[in-house]
Amino acid sequence: MKKIILSIAVLGIISCKSSQVTLGETSKEDLSVQYANTINEEDLKKHLYILASDEYEGRGTGEAGHEKAGQYIKDFYLDHEIKSPIGGDDYFQEVPKEFLKPDLNDSFNVVAFIEGSEKPDEVLVISAHLDHIGIEDGQVFNGADDDGSGNVSILEIAEAFQKAVKDGHRPKRSIMFLHVTGEEKGLLGSKYYVDHPVEMFPISKTTANLNIDMVGRSDEAHKDDKDFVYLIGADKLSTELHNLSEKMNKKYMNINIDYTFNDENDPNRFYYRSDHYNFAKKGVPIIFYFNGVHEDYHKASDTPDKIDYKMLKRRAQLVFYTAWEIANMSNMLVVDKPIK
Ligand SMILES: [Zn+2]
Repeated sequence: MKKIILSIAVLGIISCKSSQVTLGETSKEDLSVQYANTINEEDLKKHLYILASDEYEGRGTGEAGHEKAGQYIKDFYLDHEIKSPIGGDDYFQEVPKEFLKPDLNDSFNVVAFIEGSEKPDEVLVISAHLDHIGIEDGQVFNGADDDGSGNVSILEIAEAFQKAVKDGHRPKRSIMFLHVTGEEKGLLGSKYYVDHPVEMFPISKTTANLNIDMVGRSDEAHKDDKDFVYLIGADKLSTELHNLSEKMNKKYMNINIDYTFNDENDPNRFYYRSDHYNFAKKGVPIIFYFNGVHEDYHKASDTPDKIDYKMLKRRAQLVFYTAWEIANMSNMLVVDKPIK
């Protein structure tokens, strides 16, 4: 019954203003292109040169540098009028040291969100870990790729969605931006998050987690083909998510997607090694975006001058398109595989 009424209504519109309807549909697709294109190399570079500078002291969990980085992220959200799901200007979800490790101080995850128009209680979580190794033997571990690259990608993605909101194109469901702590100490901030999600968004209403950890470089295997990204985990819980992710890449980006590390038998076991895994364990479909390891991985030499900003932009745009689709589709992603 509903369908019939809808068709008549649509027909009516078409017969009156056929050109506008066509235009409306085309522009709905083009809209995502318009906002993806606001993600640019200059902004990514500007933020990364700050977050991965010596001043931020390698962003060690529970240390002053991490706190400073958290403040930088918070100020960005305040400046862009992107709200906190905790309320007011409190963007820090405290992670008590009892939950971390005995030698660490209290720390926090940074959270911000854009409210959905039709399904505000459902949420897509886009994450990256803000912490890194800190200072060791007097050397600052800047962590530009790991994972400064993921954090600045989120800032640009959030800004793109917020621009769409200001133009009247709010996503259907909510999108949360999550900058976790304690990753390098054992995925602790994300573990805390999934055990204590913000009140507004229980795990059961979390449709997916897109986790970005190291997307600004290339590994040895791709030194001659830098237009690539490793995707891990997309098909582990939800065939629908994998298909959607493939479709968005083919339609908008055409990046060479490498599934080498998605293989269950791959000895690196990357699927289990970043924050998305804590979501997957709770049954939330995930995608992990990753550029592989390189000679500066977990060294003090992981600096912002070595980042490929063009590829950082392209990978952030791929995440954006995937996020746009997930946030605007009619249903929450279907989980059709067992949790393991
Ligand atoms: Zn990392």
